[in-house]
Parts: sequence; C-alpha cells; structure tokens
Amino acid sequence: MPELPEVEHTARQLRVTIIGATISEAQVFWERTIGYPALPVFLAQVAGRQIEGIRRRGKFLLLDLSGELLMTIHRRMTGNLLILPPGWKVDTSLRQSDPLAWSTRGPAFSKIPTVSVGDQLGTSSSNGSARLLSIVDDPLLAYCRVCFYFADRRFLLFTDPRKFGRIELWPRELEREALKGLGPEPLDEAFTVEEFMKLLALRKSAIKQALLNQEMIAGLGNIYADEALFYAAIHPRRRANSLSPAEVRLLHEGIVSVLTSAIEHGGTSFNDYRDLWGEAGENYDHVCVYHRTGEPCVRCGSPIEHVTIAQRSSHFCPNCQKLTLE
Ligand SMILES: [Zn+2]
Repeated sequence: MPELPEVEHTARQLRVTIIGATISEAQVFWERTIGYPALPVFLAQVAGRQIEGIRRRGKFLLLDLSGELLMTIHRRMTGNLLILPPGWKVDTSLRQSDPLAWSTRGPAFSKIPTVSVGDQLGTSSSNGSARLLSIVDDPLLAYCRVCFYFADRRFLLFTDPRKFGRIELWPRELEREALKGLGPEPLDEAFTVEEFMKLLALRKSAIKQALLNQEMIAGLGNIYADEALFYAAIHPRRRANSLSPAEVRLLHEGIVSVLTSAIEHGGTSFNDYRDLWGEAGENYDHVCVYHRTGEPCVRCGSPIEHVTIAQRSSHFCPNCQKLTLE
C-alpha cells in the first residue's frame, strides 16, 4: 500500500510532468473508483479543466484544477498512476467480447505504429525510451480503472488491480470536508515532539495501532510504522500512552527520519507500487525490519520476528525492541 513517501514521490513527479496540462476528458472503466460525485457529474465537471497544482495530504494526492476544483486520489492497496506519451490508443473491445474478463482487467493499450514515441514522452528525462519500455512491459497497465486524456495527447492512467482506490472531485472550498478526519502531517513543522506527546497520551491502544490511525497522524502505514518503531527501539505492542518522554522524542525522530529517507529513495516497492513511469522505488533496500522476518537485525543480528496487531503484521527485533513491563 502506498504510504506518505510513495504519494509524495508521485506528487513530485506529477508536478514536473502535468502542471499546466488540460484534461480533455476522462473515461472511467470501473465506476466505483469514482467516490464522489456521481459518475456523470464527475465526467462533465472534469472535462476541459487545467491542472493548476499538485499537492499531497497524508496518503491523498491532491490535484488543483481550474474552476476552483479539487481532485483527490487515494490509492489504497494497489492504486498507481502512470503517464503514457502520445501515440497510444485504448482498446475497450473486451467490454463487449468478454464482460467478466473486462471487469477484472479493464481496457488494453496499444501503440499506434506510425508515431515515433521516443521523443514524445513529455518529460525532460534523458533516458525517456528506457522508461517507456518499462511501462510497455508493466503488467499493471492491464488494470486501468480511469483514463484522463490530455489535450496534448498524453494519458494519465489510474491502474488498480484490487479496485479499492478512490478518486473524488470537490469544490476546492470544501477541501476540509473532502479530507476530514486526517491528523497532522508528520513532516510539518507544526508536528512537534510536544504535539506528538499530547496525541499519544490520549491513546491506550498498542503504539503500532496508534501510528496507523490516520486521525492521529496522517500518512503512516505498515512499512514506516514498523521502521519508525525499530528506529526508536520500541516494541510495537507497547501501549501508546506508556511511552516515556525520551521514547516519544526518539519515535518522533524515527518517523521523520524514515519518511524523509524513503522519499529520497523514491518510495518502497514491495508489491505493486510503481512510480509515474512504471518504475519501482528503491527504498526496499533500506528497510530494516518490514517484511524481513527471519533475517538478521541490522543492529544486533537477532532474527526479525513478526506479530499480528490490529490484523496487520508488525515486524520487529525481539532483542532491540523489548516489551518492557508497564
Ligand atoms: Zn536487533
């Protein structure tokens, strides 16, 4: 599941790629991906809008559109955004020929042979053709749920094998409502150690569960919660309100550190996450405990273990992160 660093990475890529571009129209291949408003209204309102800005809040990607509109994109489990250069066409024939397969796979994409795509990527990247190849080979292209057609003939695809991702369109003045229930941004200056201490003091749940709660702090998911706890040498089952001031300080430092470093590495590609060009992030090489059960701890060599907390697997070092008596 994409967490704050992966969404931030995508936001940065989109910012240098599609700001100023105009959406001619959108095509939706899986209706439930559009969470708000009703599909016909969404399609009518999004057409002809220029992309004025790209932001991120928690795990939400925010596109400021002309006409004071705000498009929110939440990728949930497997949602990804991909850019296709001009010279492609969308083949929806499966919808008629095999409706069952269509509901799973969505449309197919093929390259129009007469167009030379090497120099039309719409990016300043010097290795544009290599990037294009990785998109062509990417099986995730098969699960396109929404396609935005740009006036410059590029496509922005929302692919999502598991279909939990949601796209919404709101008047920008209702941004607060569109994003209601989100806690502070962990990389904001306003998120201080003192603020974090106050938030944790209110919670009796396991610290791991508290970190996953988007209403307490926005943007953390399983990977970075596990990594931040390892950084601070805190067992994931510790009660949130039992942490000492020194532990809270260290955990705060851990959260900022693992998120910042993951953004620098382009995010973590564990399962399906890809960047805008279909490439994997490199942060998995820098992950210490997440999904490393049985591997030696980078600090002490003990085998990493995992326990289930709130239906999620929590990875930790039993030696570095001892469960102290409270
Ligand atoms: Zn250890």
